[in-house]
Amino acid sequence: MKNVEIIKKLERERNLTDKEFARVIETLTATEREELFARARAVREREYGKVVYIRGLIEFTNYCKNDCYYCGIRKSNKNAERYRLTPEDILECAREGYKLGFRTFVLQGGEDIRFTKDGLAEIIFSIKKEFPDCAVTLSVGERCREDYQCWYEAGADRYLLRHETADEEHYKKLHPASMSLAARKKCLYDLRDIGYQVGAGFMVGSPGQTVESLIKDLRFLQELKPHMIGIGPFLSHQETPFAEEKNGSFETTLVLLSILRLMFPGVLLPATTALGTIESDGREKGLLAGANVVMPNLSPVHVRKKYELYDNKICTGEESAQSTDSLRARIESVGYHLVVGRGDSRISPLTVSKSK
Ligand code: SAM
Repeated sequence: MKNVEIIKKLERERNLTDKEFARVIETLTATEREELFARARAVREREYGKVVYIRGLIEFTNYCKNDCYYCGIRKSNKNAERYRLTPEDILECAREGYKLGFRTFVLQGGEDIRFTKDGLAEIIFSIKKEFPDCAVTLSVGERCREDYQCWYEAGADRYLLRHETADEEHYKKLHPASMSLAARKKCLYDLRDIGYQVGAGFMVGSPGQTVESLIKDLRFLQELKPHMIGIGPFLSHQETPFAEEKNGSFETTLVLLSILRLMFPGVLLPATTALGTIESDGREKGLLAGANVVMPNLSPVHVRKKYELYDNKICTGEESAQSTDSLRARIESVGYHLVVGRGDSRISPLTVSKSK
């Protein structure tokens, strides 16, 4: 079968054999890639029209108890300048974001145990009390089910926890022995079962990744059926064991965004900061490959540089939440427009969302 026929099959059946997935990931010509992007775009426009959802990202702590080999805020990076926002700082970010038109706040951080179950619950509760029309998304890593349940009851709506790689062997190359793919997956299933809209995802081109690992990622996502999928290129950070590793490929990331859009038509798919870091118009190209969400930075300016997951992370320019005018213009330049609203997924949850 020709590559274009495989792309059409993917659109029609939302699935391919492993061999066919490998062909699409590895062998498309530039013209075939354009065909893939166009089909992904058409599906995205059928599902979501020309609308792009925005999320205000609040990176509220860069303390982390984990030591992931790829990550700039890993525990062993003694040169990272650590910070932790206060609950009032976080609320202030949300207030500023609300004025700018954000109706989803993403609280993201390292795995910082100083944010206890009850402490974070209070923060979630106060954001939801002041802004009941907003969604709160958490992205604070692996915690016990009881913590997740408590935060859900406090008002959190969504949870982002990239699985990073669904290939056991590859997982071990990216993480110390104290972490496991099984534990990560359990968290994702717990979150889904509690009733969260769940986001998983992976880095493209992380050290040791093969096309087989990527296919395992796609198969795992078919099993999990998440509402959101976050992917971006791996980018090296000088203070990590992967300092000398090469960055992931921009083109392969775009191809995977399109594959995901065709496999999961209603999924929320961000054009990530890493995509905007590797190429200056990376997020616009991501939107043209099927992405439908952007997550500008709402963190206070003085901490942004410190949340450095990889070298040269964009953080003080046009990608920030305060630059909504230029963001809007960039998005309009590719034929889409920003909307004010919570921007929920069109996917009905596998498990019926439990009332709080
Ligand atoms: N601690 C939370 C967790 O583990 O889910 C949230 C913060 S974590 C830093 C957010 C995401 O950043 C990770 O899931 C990972 O995929 C991404 N990330 C970390 N280091 C990266 C790198 N060097 N290049 C690209 N993405 C990276």
